[in-house]
Amino acid sequence: MTRAAALSLASALLALTAAPAHAEGEPQTRCGKEALDILKEAIEVPTVAGRGNVPKLAEKLKARFLAGGFSEKDIAFTPVGETGYMTVRYPGRDRKAKPLVVIAHMDVVEAKPEDWERDPFTAVIEDGYIFGRGSDDDKSGVAIGSAALLELKRQGWVPSHDIVFGISGDEETAMASTKAMAQTLSNADLVLNIDAGGGLLSTDNKPLFFGVQAGEKTYADYTLTMSDAGGHSSRPGSVDVIAEMGAALDAIWKHKFTPRLSPLTKAYLEGSAAQVADPKIAKAMRDFIADQTDAEAIAALSAEPEWIGVIRTTCVPTMIEGGHAPNALPQSVTANVNCRIFPGTSRDEIKAELAKIVANPKIAIAFKDNGTLESIESPLDDKVMAAVTKAVHENVPGLAVIPNMSAGATDSMHFRSQGIRAYGVTPTYMRSEDSFAHGLNERLPLATLDPGVKQMVSMLKSLAQ
Ligand SMILES: [Zn+2]
Repeated sequence: MTRAAALSLASALLALTAAPAHAEGEPQTRCGKEALDILKEAIEVPTVAGRGNVPKLAEKLKARFLAGGFSEKDIAFTPVGETGYMTVRYPGRDRKAKPLVVIAHMDVVEAKPEDWERDPFTAVIEDGYIFGRGSDDDKSGVAIGSAALLELKRQGWVPSHDIVFGISGDEETAMASTKAMAQTLSNADLVLNIDAGGGLLSTDNKPLFFGVQAGEKTYADYTLTMSDAGGHSSRPGSVDVIAEMGAALDAIWKHKFTPRLSPLTKAYLEGSAAQVADPKIAKAMRDFIADQTDAEAIAALSAEPEWIGVIRTTCVPTMIEGGHAPNALPQSVTANVNCRIFPGTSRDEIKAELAKIVANPKIAIAFKDNGTLESIESPLDDKVMAAVTKAVHENVPGLAVIPNMSAGATDSMHFRSQGIRAYGVTPTYMRSEDSFAHGLNERLPLATLDPGVKQMVSMLKSLAQ
């Protein structure tokens, strides 16, 4: 990242906020500054699974909400093992109405300091960015959600019905806290997730579109195993379990699942066709919407890693372990196949399809339960889309707002599986080349904080006025 590029990023987004230009892109509004303070504080609590730090971060957040006028009885932390979830209730005029729930997560993916250029658990501000594990995923969501609620409280605003900020503590791993939180908040009218969706900037920092995540694919792992008596490698018989597993995995890799279209993916492809740079891909999207058996369109979209998953279920071999000595016929082999299943297809149906593809009765296939759920799409609610569009346009007039389906799995699935509508509306704008969530040197452009909090405040006001 050069200084010139950082400056153009800063000015591109600062222009949206009517704030005076600032060399480093640092927030100029009170709530944007508060979001940055919360984000810095949150990055410095290493909430990696197993370190028991989530309650510490919840304590720090609680102190901020208390100082901001929220009452003690409206703030709760519920332990779940070494982690837990936090709820902050913003009382509305009608206390009996179903609450509007906003969600984010406090935990982060592991980060090894020796691999990073800067310490991952120190908030470093450099060249218009804030660096650190969680700066994007999802401590930015925690910070922006908190700053928006604190700003609304400061304004003296009272929502029509309760708003509850639910912050989970193991979204990146077991999602046990999410599951418990979703049960506690099962009377939610609607969920806004600040850990999905969001704005995309071009390489030269121009906003391209804002995505609203209204569905995600079902995550599923299957364990394939095969065993045999083995024997001396100098005396091969007719069976080698590694070779047979290899053939099975190759067949899975080459298999193409039936292309599908849903109301959500139709809206996603329609919106994207107007945005993608490659006219061949845009045409393929339109042709596929018109005819889901159009072989040319299917081939064009399937050749793109970004689009193959939008039109079909995908399954790929991801891990393998087998054999016990270099000079022995293998006695066993185990492989993991990871699938991202199109919403509406069950995990059992995919298991049956895998068995057909493998076509080897000696290979056992078992679904590996890791707590993820079968996903359903949320309907594209007019009121929600209007509120999001209004909030987006206050920052960037006329920007395209495109519903999307993600590859899974976010906290939203625990609400959608209960029939609660959930929409990913992360109000930050980033270039795809700056997206390092889960990776090294994770960062967030500082210039996205002012408009981000403003967008969140606007969405909440529209949906609970
Ligand atoms: Zn996340």
